Amino acid sequence: MSNPIRVRFAPSPTGPLHIGGVRTALFNYLFAKKNNGVFFLRIEDTDQNRFVPGAEEYIMEALEWLGIAPDETIGKNEKFGPYKQSERKHLYQQYADELINSGNAYYAFDTAEALDLHRKQHEEQGKTFIYNWHNREKLDTSLVISAEESAKRIAAGEDYVIRFKTPVDETLYLKDIIRGEVKFETNLLDDKVLFKSDGMPTYHLANIVDDHLMETSHVIRGEEWLPSMPLHVLLYRAFGWEAPEFAHLPLILKPIGNGKLSKRDGDKLGFPVFPLEWKTAEGVSSGYREKGFFPEAVVNFLALLGWNDGTEQELFSLEELVQKFDLNRVHKAGAKFDPEKNKWFNHQY
Ligand code: GLU
Repeated sequence: MSNPIRVRFAPSPTGPLHIGGVRTALFNYLFAKKNNGVFFLRIEDTDQNRFVPGAEEYIMEALEWLGIAPDETIGKNEKFGPYKQSERKHLYQQYADELINSGNAYYAFDTAEALDLHRKQHEEQGKTFIYNWHNREKLDTSLVISAEESAKRIAAGEDYVIRFKTPVDETLYLKDIIRGEVKFETNLLDDKVLFKSDGMPTYHLANIVDDHLMETSHVIRGEEWLPSMPLHVLLYRAFGWEAPEFAHLPLILKPIGNGKLSKRDGDKLGFPVFPLEWKTAEGVSSGYREKGFFPEAVVNFLALLGWNDGTEQELFSLEELVQKFDLNRVHKAGAKFDPEKNKWFNHQY
């Protein structure tokens, strides 16, 4: 028997859930239900500086209201939980050490000023600054520092980070369910920071350690994470773990210009970008619920912004969406709103 389907929605609680995030959650939900799998919620809150009080509760309430509540969430599964990264800190340290010991990661002591200087020097020469260990010789910093020397510097109280040692001269051909084969050159990748001296992992390390331990079978997430896929695949390889399958969803774009649809765009066009109202000291952002929309209508609308079943059908119940959902029918192009025609369309880059 093949492995059971386990998919997750892994938001960072940095604010209210935007409709792009809701759609990611929805596609994970539909995929899990279609395949008799499990849909779980993991709160990725390791970046304490970006933490917004109330966001976690908001996310759970929104998913509940939309009828796509996760099967497992914080505290709901003893085997895999807790599903909150700030409660799993001890684990990440252990795995960062494992990468150091296997020679797949190293300590780096560069100061922010030194890094800025390198960046500036490169810019002046019209070059991009790529921080990787085999490039370091070309910088005026020393090569990867030995374990003993690193231990001494750490003991002396120097600030450090742990960086991934990206393999040299490799071309990766990776499979994405939506985009097909995607090619990456490892020489163009930075040696990303995995662990910071404040004892916190970065997104990359925590994300892949958790996806492994929580037995995630498919990573279905927004396209903004596609550039992270090679690093994640390389990390799985460095640990000797099997990588999950990947599916990167197209974005919900700004009506004019580039990038993701923002709250401001929604305000201008007169539709909410949040499922529920969000109140802050600066004011209130309207939500679909408070505007009187039915959750079924919001789910239907969001499903069709990135997917179709190949027919002209426009109204689907949640059950129908579950039956018909197929990741292979997710669009490659982002959804964009045309204010003149008052219609959504698929934007080709
Ligand atoms: N925490 C990331 C986010 O906020 C999750 C990305 C992923 O699903 O791997 O979108």
